Amino acid sequence: MADIRLKSVSKHFGAVRVIENVSLNIESGEFIVFLGPSGCGKSTLLRMIAGLESVDGGEIWIGDRRVDQLPPAQREIAMVFQNYALYPHMTVKDNMSFGLQNIRMPKPEIEQRIANAAKTLEIDHLLERRPAQLSGGQRQRVAIGRAIVRDPKAFLLDEPLSNLDAGLRVRTRVELAQLHQRMQATMIFVTHDQTEAMTLATRIVVLNNRKVEQIGTPMEIYSRPASRFVANFVGSPA
Ligand code: ADP
Ligand code: MG
Repeated sequence: MADIRLKSVSKHFGAVRVIENVSLNIESGEFIVFLGPSGCGKSTLLRMIAGLESVDGGEIWIGDRRVDQLPPAQREIAMVFQNYALYPHMTVKDNMSFGLQNIRMPKPEIEQRIANAAKTLEIDHLLERRPAQLSGGQRQRVAIGRAIVRDPKAFLLDEPLSNLDAGLRVRTRVELAQLHQRMQATMIFVTHDQTEAMTLATRIVVLNNRKVEQIGTPMEIYSRPASRFVANFVGSPA
């Protein structure tokens, strides 16, 4: 696992500025939550770290490597998408191993990693199924499993719980927290849901209007909001 540093990162789409001079230091092993209203640029910021969007200015560092000009595959991070993005025609196992042969990982090593991840996520019994034969929660675990087998330097999760029903959302939230503990993983989790942010984060990055409004522990954000916006958004006492 590695730390992630953003230095004055900016992004615009045409004339529309979406992220402006965002700087952040994320420690190795932190569970960072990007919290903010819809459209504030959370996904764009995450996608720039993943390499799925180019940066228009600034630098992104993962560990001791500058990565902002590298393609996604060379950044050694795993992204878990909201819609799971599993291949429908492949089994769970093949979904998890997809692409690992290309980086010349030996087959026994792949098998071992899948077995370990499947055990961690309790999806051992689902390995031969296809995505259509899984529940939403199971698909979500497979998507996380696919990330785990890559042994990434960090996990990036974009609203991974928002397609789940309320009960499952709470359960998966707890599981994610446990997974973070067990793996000591660096995680960046995007959400517009204050409760998710408060219960999961080691630190919350509140985004609004292209910029970072506040960075702090859930307690700091809640008890000492830096602006009226933060206070309103997290529901702090007036
Ligand atoms: P969030 O994830 O916080 O809801 P996004 O990062 O998805 O916000 O979007 C931030 C802003 O950038 C929005 O106004 C959105 O419409 C715009 N945007 C995102 N992606 C693109 C794109 N590919 N082209 C043009 N505008 C985009
Ligand atoms: Mg988004």
